[in-house]
Amino acid sequence: MEALTNRSQAVDRSPMNFWERLYLPAIFKGLGITFKHLFRKKATVRFPEEKRQFSPVFRGLHILNRDEEGRERCTACGLCAVACPAEAITMEAAERKEGEENLYREEKYAARYEINMLRCIFCGFCEEACPKEAIYMTETFAPANYQRKGFIYGKDDLLIPDPKAKA
Ligand code: SF4
Ligand code: SF4
Repeated sequence: MEALTNRSQAVDRSPMNFWERLYLPAIFKGLGITFKHLFRKKATVRFPEEKRQFSPVFRGLHILNRDEEGRERCTACGLCAVACPAEAITMEAAERKEGEENLYREEKYAARYEINMLRCIFCGFCEEACPKEAIYMTETFAPANYQRKGFIYGKDDLLIPDPKAKA
């Protein structure tokens, strides 16, 4: 049968000679390779003292955005939840009442919006699907937590501060 790659090597099954039976040459050869790597550029970084630059296409923790007037952009259309392959997003829609125009941009808003970070695979489909530019993925990690419920991010965790209220 033809090999899929050209990396296959024939195994030498001839009996071992005296030096091979000593194993010492093979051990020194292995140690030589280890010492060679000691003087090479390290592939690892000393985190957290040293920080690695994020890739320009890095997708991290989500945020829910507001418009210039500080109103919530999300209109609870559900497109992000439909696009999510991990079914990590859940929401409940509510109608905007009179006098709430300064809080919500559209007539409908997400009264509850949750992302389960244990399910999320950070694919970015929710961000792409959103017609209101309401959900964004930042360059931040989801912090570690000892509790499962600590990974369910609600609106309090996701919504950015009101730019009018906080700098
Ligand atoms: S990044 Fe992907 S998996 Fe995570 S919530 Fe968005 S669509 Fe779902
Ligand atoms: S975040 Fe965007 S896509 Fe998701 S419900 Fe809100 S407006 Fe719709």
